[in-house]
Amino acid sequence: MPDSTAFARSNDALTNEKLAHLADLVKTWGRELGFQQVGITDTELSTHEAHLDAWLENGYHGEMGFMAKHGTKRTRPAELEPGTQRIISVRMDYLPAEVESTKVLGQPSRAYVSRYALGRDYHKLMRKRLALLAKKIEQEVGRFGYRAFVDSAPVMERALAQKAGLGWFGKNAMLLNPKAGSLFFLGELYTDLPLPIDAPFEQEHCGSCSACRTACPTGAIVDDKVVDSRKCISYLTIELHGAIPVEFRRAMGNRIYGCDDCQLVCPFTRFTRITQEDDFAPRHDLDRTTLISLFAWGEAEFLDKTAGSPIRRIGYEHWLRNIAIGLGNAPWSQAVEAALWARRAYPSALVREHVSWALEEQQLKRGDRIATDMT
Ligand code: SF4
Ligand code: SF4
Repeated sequence: MPDSTAFARSNDALTNEKLAHLADLVKTWGRELGFQQVGITDTELSTHEAHLDAWLENGYHGEMGFMAKHGTKRTRPAELEPGTQRIISVRMDYLPAEVESTKVLGQPSRAYVSRYALGRDYHKLMRKRLALLAKKIEQEVGRFGYRAFVDSAPVMERALAQKAGLGWFGKNAMLLNPKAGSLFFLGELYTDLPLPIDAPFEQEHCGSCSACRTACPTGAIVDDKVVDSRKCISYLTIELHGAIPVEFRRAMGNRIYGCDDCQLVCPFTRFTRITQEDDFAPRHDLDRTTLISLFAWGEAEFLDKTAGSPIRRIGYEHWLRNIAIGLGNAPWSQAVEAALWARRAYPSALVREHVSWALEEQQLKRGDRIATDMT
């Protein structure tokens, strides 16, 4: 099923009444297709464009050149897809049942994988559902122009969702919904249909809370709603290609792929709804397994076990790099040291450097332990 068709249809036959009815149907169909919320907005993002420009000027995007590369296509939807009049914004909960996030973070010999990445890749599933939504619209009004996006193109997904009434920007820069927290995916259907738009979500409920800023292990939330990616563990473990700066390594703890701390401490996270999607269920015990067991995966095993998972895109070398840091931060044990020694001569210089760092950390802890035993 296509996730886009040509834009620039003639909408003359669609009266306001018909469009209002269609907007209601879109929301009903969206919920039937598994989206928890659907909103509609226009293409006006000038305030967000100014925020993005300031963020880029500060260099907060780090190595994510793609954030700057598309110019105003990101903030002006009709430049990305000429003919776009409206954006249908959707959200889908992703937290699987029985996942103990805080407990795993408190057990440094276990690996912490960001909760959105425990199961199958969400891009395909969400895009397929958006295509089904488009199909239903087409059955109602005939051919129309649309293109589905899920975190895949220069799209201001959180800004569009806020404008479409799905939530507000928390101080952690995530989109927050008062009844659902922030552990959900966002997707968009750009369309040439002039649907009536929803009211933006204007009220910000953070108030005097700043729990996310306090909890961030690396101080990456440099101002309300502003994250310096270069300090953010999600960026460091997923986007950064080279060595992870030493200054952040201890603070990373056992977080080997992404980080959720600024969401886990958020009081609105208690309203998170458990996902109904089987695709998002944890695979290979990624919600609870140990650093040592993941570090033992060979490259073929990594490729096999991460097939269809968002984790795969970081590649095996970065996988080992990240886990080496986790092992350096784990409590000292012979087993941890042995696991690191087994990778001491790994062909990648990047991995070897992180393994050396981790071994030094382990040896420091072993020294401390001997000193404690002798007193
Ligand atoms: S994801 Fe982690 S490192 Fe990044 S801002 Fe949130 S708490 Fe900080
Ligand atoms: S932790 Fe507090 S300040 Fe941060 S996003 Fe949640 S409510 Fe807002």
